[in-house]
Amino acid sequence: MAAPSSPEQELAAQLIASRQAAARRLAGLEREFNGIVEAAGQAGTDDEHDPEGATSAFERQHLAALISQARMHLDAIEAALGRLEAGSYGRCQRCGQPISVERLGARPAAVTCITCARLDRSR
Ligand SMILES: [Zn+2]
Repeated sequence: MAAPSSPEQELAAQLIASRQAAARRLAGLEREFNGIVEAAGQAGTDDEHDPEGATSAFERQHLAALISQARMHLDAIEAALGRLEAGSYGRCQRCGQPISVERLGARPAAVTCITCARLDRSR
């Protein structure tokens, strides 16, 4: 494999890898979710009277939360890839300054620079 020649290319490759990982995670969670739903259906469990039914209801809720998080993460990466194609990737959406390569390396889907992110957090 040839070494990437620029930080941009490296970040693009990283984004694509992140998208694959996020999509795989989402698919895995959805499979798990469907498994629980199916198992509950087959056993004919009653969430209110069967202790195991209550457990699976809790697991379902927990998984549903994880799935929506994974989906948002995937959306954020997709959006970053869109910005990459549009040529606006790596620029802070708040102040317009370039986001540092280090930050993008750690958070490829970041839309704000570290300064603006800190301001947001301290608010
Ligand atoms: Zn900024």
